[in-house]
Amino acid sequence: MDLQALLDDLAKEAAPFAAQGKVADYIPALAAVDPSRFGIALATVDGAVYGHGDWREPFSIQSVSKAFSLALVLARDGEALWRRVGREPSGNPFNSLVQLEYEKGIPRNPFINAGALILIDRLLSLTGDSLGTLREFLRTESGNPAVDVDREVAASEAAHGHRNAALAHFMASCGNLENPVERVLDHYFRQCSLTMSCADLARAGLFLANHGLGADGSRLLTRSEAKRINSIMLTCGTYDAAGDFAYRVGLPGKSGVGGGILAVLPGRGVLCVWSPALDTHGNSVAGVEALDRFTTRTGWSVF
Ligand code: GLN
Repeated sequence: MDLQALLDDLAKEAAPFAAQGKVADYIPALAAVDPSRFGIALATVDGAVYGHGDWREPFSIQSVSKAFSLALVLARDGEALWRRVGREPSGNPFNSLVQLEYEKGIPRNPFINAGALILIDRLLSLTGDSLGTLREFLRTESGNPAVDVDREVAASEAAHGHRNAALAHFMASCGNLENPVERVLDHYFRQCSLTMSCADLARAGLFLANHGLGADGSRLLTRSEAKRINSIMLTCGTYDAAGDFAYRVGLPGKSGVGGGILAVLPGRGVLCVWSPALDTHGNSVAGVEALDRFTTRTGWSVF
């Protein structure tokens, strides 16, 4: 299969769908991004990287980062994590408050904001520096030592982070935070504000396609842990649209409100798409369209 020609075609077909979406504006620094940007990259387990459009352009990875946090915590802490966070789809928006109160401060899954705050809290306890640990991991796995936080986006998130602060305070009131709320939020905002390109993210995610083996061949996760992270990405990675994403794309995927989506093709590689205009669930419209077309064309889904 000519993968480069395929990506070129998909970009042409999917990019116009951005017109149906809207760039995230609840974080003001993200609202300034040009909605016509479009990038797609495919990194394969045999080391090749294909790309089209703005695939080398860094963007705000936002919640795509949460797939990597989950890997870091599971690798260190194993099953103990599941006492503090669930692994069921939430059926609610990623920043929803209501379910958290009903469920006594135990987030439904690690990918909604409340669950991601738990991952960061745990990684802080385990390493003393959640953001630093994640950044180092992403630099190593992507092969790009320049991966870093966009300070302007981080400041904008912090200034408008009332919902995240509410989630963190509520969990603290339930005894489900180990570190001070302000510290957890600071690491959360900076983590969401990491910037990476489609090529960086696709390379960094390869351990998920490679059954837990990192870029240098070392084992980062057991085969079973890699499977489990992919499973949670499939069921929870695109929030209250995870059912629709599974129906259309048929791959584990993790989205972010910067417009990125990382999708894993187990045993084959990782696709990353970036198009900043989002649907009402916070997923990139043209991104999902491109992934849908990719698996429909190639048959490379997990089903
Ligand atoms: N930083 C964003 C927030 O906290 C991340 C959400 C996302 O990408 N879905 O709301």
